[in-house]
Amino acid sequence: MDYDVVIVGGGHNGLTCAAYLARAGASVVVIERRGVLGGCGTSEATIPELPDFTFNAGAFDLLGFEEQPVYKDFQLDRHGLELIPNDPFFFMPFPDGSHLFIYRSAERTAEGIAAISRADAEAYLRYIEFWSRLDDILAPFYTRPAPLPGRRARRRPNRGLRRALRRGATTLAAAARLTRSSVAAEMARVALMPARGYIAEHFESPQVQGLMAFFAMQTKTTLDQPGSVLAMSELVISHAAGVARPRGGIGRVSEAIARALEVHGGEIVRASHIDEIVVERGRAVGVRLADGQTIRARRAVVAAISPQRVFLSLVGREHLSAAFRSRVAHIQNDGTSVIKAYYALDEAPIFSTVGDDGGRAEFRTASGMVCPGVDAADAMWADIRARRLPATQAWIWCTLSTGLDPSMAPPGKHALGLHEWVPHQLAEGRDWDEAKQEMARRLFGEYCRYAPNLENKVLGSASRSPKDWEAITDNPKGNNFHVDFVPHQLFGFRPLPELSDYRTPIDGLYLSGAGTHPGPAITGLPGHNTAQAVLEDRRFS
Ligand SMILES: Cc1cc2nc3c(=O)[nH]c(=O)nc-3n(C[C@H](O)[C@H](O)[C@H](O)COP(=O)(O)OP(=O)(O)OC[C@H]3O[C@@H](n4cnc5c(N)ncnc54)[C@H](O)[C@@H]3O)c2cc1C
Repeated sequence: MDYDVVIVGGGHNGLTCAAYLARAGASVVVIERRGVLGGCGTSEATIPELPDFTFNAGAFDLLGFEEQPVYKDFQLDRHGLELIPNDPFFFMPFPDGSHLFIYRSAERTAEGIAAISRADAEAYLRYIEFWSRLDDILAPFYTRPAPLPGRRARRRPNRGLRRALRRGATTLAAAARLTRSSVAAEMARVALMPARGYIAEHFESPQVQGLMAFFAMQTKTTLDQPGSVLAMSELVISHAAGVARPRGGIGRVSEAIARALEVHGGEIVRASHIDEIVVERGRAVGVRLADGQTIRARRAVVAAISPQRVFLSLVGREHLSAAFRSRVAHIQNDGTSVIKAYYALDEAPIFSTVGDDGGRAEFRTASGMVCPGVDAADAMWADIRARRLPATQAWIWCTLSTGLDPSMAPPGKHALGLHEWVPHQLAEGRDWDEAKQEMARRLFGEYCRYAPNLENKVLGSASRSPKDWEAITDNPKGNNFHVDFVPHQLFGFRPLPELSDYRTPIDGLYLSGAGTHPGPAITGLPGHNTAQAVLEDRRFS
């Protein structure tokens, strides 16, 4: 069997890249190791004994997806994707009985904050306004290779360096011009700050500090890490772009992209693991499946999976320099992973400890966030760094998918997912198969602190530990970012400067997925950008 292009991995980025190439006339096949498409963004009956409950196994919310190229270019609404807008999109309960909703409108959100602290409400609006300017400047860089060296760094390191510095300077100069003030300098300073200092400087109440800390930790960064302020930008993007969920679950995104791919003649092979990227005379010419079968690629192989798997497992070591392999091996993937637990509920939660009487739908439609404050966050990270199960729960995402989309469970029943950062490897060899049950109990216990009606209302549960994520997706250490999303691995540094334009040292081999610019989340942007790189290099008719 042979094709113009073979794509490794049927996550939404592999599918997106394939769809663009098929539309350009290439014969394309996507090979996915699982029976289900979508990688960390699938909808599945994760509790085998309760097949009528569908859970978002990993991802659940979409930020501004209607504006992404893949949605618009393939009219995914015509391929079965229906987005349900959600507003308010986030809800945060606090131990003292207060709560916050985050609405699309920053002003309306600030009105809620004012009930807790008037000063914080004003600071919140200042914060959103300040960071929106940065987002406006960065937005054009998401749909193309980042403005840094890419292949020039591979071939002519010094020239690449000069170019990078020139472009970096140009970007800063543009930022300065756009803001016409010292705001650009302040942005650069703040972007390098640890979140803790920034939060303490701007916000006074433990609740709003908790809200900001929650977003600072969104990229698995502790509050002490320089640059952790940057992660808070997701909150800014949410206000600007809005949040929605697909009817039927997040897996509908990949299913719709797959349909678009097939309309353009592309093929998909499911349940086939790729063991090797075949390289002949320095060129990627195909892949070898676990069953020994070889599929040839006439023009290109695109690996939409972890860069470390690509260069340390799938490409034979004889095709790469020892220095390059060492750089790839040392890309940061520090071992913080995720547990997600799934609960089939007999009734909906009522957050009675924070004033909910069951009558206001928003409590159940908005995605919940638990972070009691900065001290709790420190306690959680102390445990994660010591490779223990967190005793304090300070970063739980809570999604009651049935709140917005009752079709995901039998009538009157509910599907709840809770997830939190945890260490990939537990101390003293503790086994995750046993630990995950304890962790699922702890997460649910924390949730019931706000929704006590749910105690004894669980019909069944299951969970995916970091080891499960690794076994299911083959992402090293179960890292759904493929490699860490930290300042020195963003933009033109993702995953390394010499790989940042999606091309690799092997002719005809391209990299894509969450480990490439602009990184994780269900956006399809890495897949879109990789396809542009392939199309720049190779013509299909
Ligand atoms: C718990 C959780 C919650 C999240 N919440 C959100 C959210 O709300 N919103 C959001 O936007 N994002 C969220 N994310 C992140 C998002 O899911 C990922 O960033 C995104 O799925 C990355 O997509 P991808 O296609 O690049 O890679 P992946 O989703 O990792 O897909 C890679 C695919 O390649 C396949 N594969 C790997 N190796 C091979 C091989 N050798 N042969 C064949 N196939 C292979 C895997 O099985 C997988 O299907 C969440 C992730 C998790 C785990």
